[in-house]
Parts: sequence; C-alpha cells; structure tokens
Amino acid sequence: MQSPDLEYLVSRLLELLSTPSPTGNTEAAMKLLERELAALGLEWTRTRKGALGWTLPGKTEGKQVCFAAHMDTLGAMVKAIKPSGRLKLERIGGYDWGTVEGEYALVHRSEGEPLSATVVHINQSVHVHGNPENLKRDKHTLELRLDTITSSALETAALGVRIGDYVSWDSRATFVPTQGLQGYIKGRHLDNKAAVAVCLALSKAVLEGNIQLEHSAHFFISNFEEVGHGASSGLPDHLDELIVVDMAAIGEGQNSSEHHVSLCHLDSNGPYSRDLSLKLRAVAQKLELDLRDDLYPWYGSDGRTAWLSGQDLPIALIGPGVDASHAYERTHTDALEGTFNLMLGYLLEAK
Ligand SMILES: [Zn+2]
Repeated sequence: MQSPDLEYLVSRLLELLSTPSPTGNTEAAMKLLERELAALGLEWTRTRKGALGWTLPGKTEGKQVCFAAHMDTLGAMVKAIKPSGRLKLERIGGYDWGTVEGEYALVHRSEGEPLSATVVHINQSVHVHGNPENLKRDKHTLELRLDTITSSALETAALGVRIGDYVSWDSRATFVPTQGLQGYIKGRHLDNKAAVAVCLALSKAVLEGNIQLEHSAHFFISNFEEVGHGASSGLPDHLDELIVVDMAAIGEGQNSSEHHVSLCHLDSNGPYSRDLSLKLRAVAQKLELDLRDDLYPWYGSDGRTAWLSGQDLPIALIGPGVDASHAYERTHTDALEGTFNLMLGYLLEAK
C-alpha cells in the first residue's frame, strides 16, 4: 500500500487550519490551496461561486470519480456594535455557543488587517458577578471584546468595524507526535480541512509516484457546506460517482475512531448509495484496511446537497474520525492515512 508523505500532509493541514475560512469568506484558504496545487504542477478551475476543482486523469475507459470536500468552516458575523464598543455576534454554521467561550478571534474588516479579539461572557468576572453557576451561553450573553482601545460604539466604528464583518475563530492548530511522524492533530476546523489536506497529499503521491489510475479522479472543494449548499452547483459534468470526504463523527454509540477511516451509510438526511458504499467496503477489505462502518444521526454533507440539487449519481461518504466535532476537535494521522489509502485504493482497484 502506498503511504502518504506524512510530513507534507500534516504541515499543509496545520497551515490550512491556521488560515481563516468561515463560510462566506474562504478566499484566503482557497488561495493557499491554489498555491499548493501550483507547486505540484496542477491546474485548477474555480466556479463563479468560489468552489475549486482539479483533475488527475485515469485510463480513458475508466470511470469519472469525484471526491468532494469542503474548505469553509464555522465562524460568526458582527450583528451589532454595542454602546460599550464590544460586538454582538451571529453564528455562521451550527455549533453551541459554549464551545467558543474564551476563544481568540479575528474580525475581518472590509479594509485593513483583521483585528484581534476574544469571546467573553457579559458576566465573566467572578469578582464582579459572584457565583458563576448556571451562566447561560448564547448570542445575548457572549460578546466579542476587541484588543484595541475602544469604549464606545463610535470608537469601534472609527476602527472600520461594520455590521456584516466576518469573525473567524483561532483554530489553535497543534501537532502532538505519538511516534515518529505520526501523532494527533488538534484544533478547530479539522472538519473539513483534514479531508482537503488528504486530497492534496493524494494528488502529490499520484503525481510524484507516476501512479497510473484506473479511474479519473476529480476533486471538488466547496465553500458553502456548513450552511447547506456547498455542492449544489459547480460539480464537474459527466461524473459517474461522487465520494464525499468529510469528517466521521465520534462519540458514545459511534463506531468511528480517530485512528480509522469511516464509511457512513446513513445520516440525518437518509441513506447514501448502497452500491457505491459496498464497492468502497470491498476495496477496503482487499487492502486489509480497518474501515469503520457507521451512521451519523445528526449530520449533513455535500452529498445531500448534490442529490437535492438534482445530481443523478451514486453518492457515498467516507472520512477520518474527528473527536469533539464542531468544537475543539482532534484526529490522528492514522485516520488521515486510512482515508488516503481508501481513496487511492478505490481509484486503483474499484470496478
Ligand atoms: Zn464537514
């Protein structure tokens, strides 16, 4: 089995994680991806909506397989400037407010460098508000404190901060080795930059190893998945199959793990393609890959979006196990490697 260049995979993942890309403001991360594709000698296309695609050609009589992952992440937007000069926020994407309390953030003004900030509770100081038990965390009780001198709405507005400015969370992306080049990657937004980094590492391995693929591999990196319409347009024409690569959900009752690649048979929107899922499982068996079958009860993906937008394709969902999803997440290089192996194995082995 071909192995990914783990050093490359982890370093690009950390760089992607550290580049803000809340849904609606993903261009910096997309540009980073363009830079990496250019370094590999690949050409790419962009859709008018901002998604990015590239292709690794296979045998002409092979299938046209597309792997879809998403670059956009959770984030927030400035809802109002408070009389104190602090900011009221609205969420972008689905997460619990409690997961961002105390988080570092950047406010992306329309002009100028982003402003540093922190999410604080309006009754944060125990020395002022006493017993902190039963504090509610929501958009009314959490606010954004700017690390710039301001104590009024006028002063904050004078900094160029406007209603509608994007706010990104600090990923705090960190690699913790467990053995050699293997280890845990922890940080926000592994959903779904982990999969984007695997797509890059796979492309590098195919190009540098001169691997002749049975099937053409198209890669589609969407930029509006977290709000439900990422792959609704812009997928390449004439595809035979769509394999969505997105995080596997870990937790009580789940079969997924941070050390494995998962195959999701059903999420909140119903089942994925049985036929394509069984083909993926057959490839995993042939490769002796410990593929984790699973269902995700509270989950949606670009697969649903593609089907709802009228794609007449079998669609399956695979991906690396990510712990504490939509909060401060973690995965292991084992899961990234498993995802890489299943994707490459599919392009080489599937009928
Ligand atoms: Zn995702």
